[in-house]
Amino acid sequence: NKSDQVYRNLLGLLEKEGISSDIQVVKTGCFGFCEQGPIVKVLPEESFYVQVKPEDAEEIVKEHLIKGRPVTRLLYNKEQSKEFARVDDIDFYQKQFRVVLRNCGFINPEDINEYIARDGYAALEKVLLEMSPDEVIEELKKSGLRGRGGAGFPTWRKWLFTMQAKDDVKYVVCNADEGDPGAYMDRSVLEGDPHSVLEAMIIAGKTVEAHKGYIYVRAEYPLAIRRLNIAIEQARELGLLGEDILGSGFSFDIEIRLGAGAFVCGEETALLASIEGSRGTPRPRPPFPAVKGLWGKPTVINNVETLANIPVIILRGGDWFAKIGTETSKGTKVFALTGKVNNSGLVEVPMGTTLRDIVFNIGGGIPNGKKFKAVQTGGPSGGVIPEEYLDTPIDYENLQKLGSIMGSGGMIVMDEDDCMVNVAKFYLGFTVDESCGKCAPCRVGGRKLYNILDRISKGKGTLEDIDKIKEISHAMKRASLCGLGQTAPNPVLSTLHYFEDEYRAHIVEKR
Ligand code: SF4
Repeated sequence: NKSDQVYRNLLGLLEKEGISSDIQVVKTGCFGFCEQGPIVKVLPEESFYVQVKPEDAEEIVKEHLIKGRPVTRLLYNKEQSKEFARVDDIDFYQKQFRVVLRNCGFINPEDINEYIARDGYAALEKVLLEMSPDEVIEELKKSGLRGRGGAGFPTWRKWLFTMQAKDDVKYVVCNADEGDPGAYMDRSVLEGDPHSVLEAMIIAGKTVEAHKGYIYVRAEYPLAIRRLNIAIEQARELGLLGEDILGSGFSFDIEIRLGAGAFVCGEETALLASIEGSRGTPRPRPPFPAVKGLWGKPTVINNVETLANIPVIILRGGDWFAKIGTETSKGTKVFALTGKVNNSGLVEVPMGTTLRDIVFNIGGGIPNGKKFKAVQTGGPSGGVIPEEYLDTPIDYENLQKLGSIMGSGGMIVMDEDDCMVNVAKFYLGFTVDESCGKCAPCRVGGRKLYNILDRISKGKGTLEDIDKIKEISHAMKRASLCGLGQTAPNPVLSTLHYFEDEYRAHIVEKR
């Protein structure tokens, strides 16, 4: 790809100019500012070059690195070009607060020493040598960290249930089966900072007395898988994984399991079934995986973003973390901001930030002078939020009140040209395709609902269809076995709630 070519060109030119021993070129994970990639950052000036092409490497080397003059045309903030525009000056980053993405774009994820140089594995050392399991749970409790995979369940409770379960064998599982359309938060963490996830899993293992961990990651993420494998190997070499970690007497190891891309395998019981080698279908809960999970054993299962928070909480303390965010939702949230927005990319903000801040201040607003219409949060399980709620502080509860959910962090912006019936149809089509078919409310209800939306979108619907949509949606929400079916009607109900006139317009147009 282009970034790789830029990297190779820089290396070659430094060699040619005889300065390769003075200047280091480091390949990092994603900077988050996807709209402007490939990005080259020059330190110590922190010049931020965007949309760099392989042929630009020559000018960067000859002008900037040799003559000390910025390459103005490549700087993001061209107006500040005289002073080597810095990352801190960039609007996209100014309102962000990076906890989960703290190392993404800063370190070479394939070098464990770079992670260690930024306090990596210091939290593990603290847990192994200084803290009791109860103290770890207490710190998590103080932090108020809730699961970032969607449901928002308090992390400390999950860990406590597994810790208290009486069994000789327990497991820790990382859910890296990110499947929402447009979402790539977990992928970026795994690609840019894989050790943060490994470190958290080992800490979880020590706390609940598990000795084996699995990372369930989509096979469609080859770079994430490669970097995880490198990270696991390097951690083993340094005695951070395997027997007697850091001489503490505690042993823990991690294996990777590849998912075949079924959305339903993001549901934790389906994911566990898939690791066990069975078909990935959900099973009724309770019992919850925390007490009866993988192969019937107590299992802590957390998603990538949740885990990436843990080392920071241990090092800086639960109280520090709890100061970030709102009363009920602590810390930050990473969103994949995409759709009709100028600055698409990965955005990490304190909980409680408004949608307006994300879409307009960080995201730079809507392209081509178009008008904002709505934003979809929570992917196919979430809903749309219209303009009148742009100033709502984002947290788990507020999003739910608005008919959406936090979900894992997909955030798709829509403008005045987007048809809300088609939006609902797109998301429902996705969940209908991904339904595992195990229970009738989701299997049959989803298909019926989709057929009605299809009819309406083609101008063949009737006003009675609107009542039918509500009836089927509520039945699916009440009776479906797992979260996929329970939340699949959300995009339909929320578009209908806020934009019923558009549904009616499709019906009236036909008449
Ligand atoms: Fe499968 Fe849908 Fe039922 Fe979940 S709700 S078990 S995805 S059929």
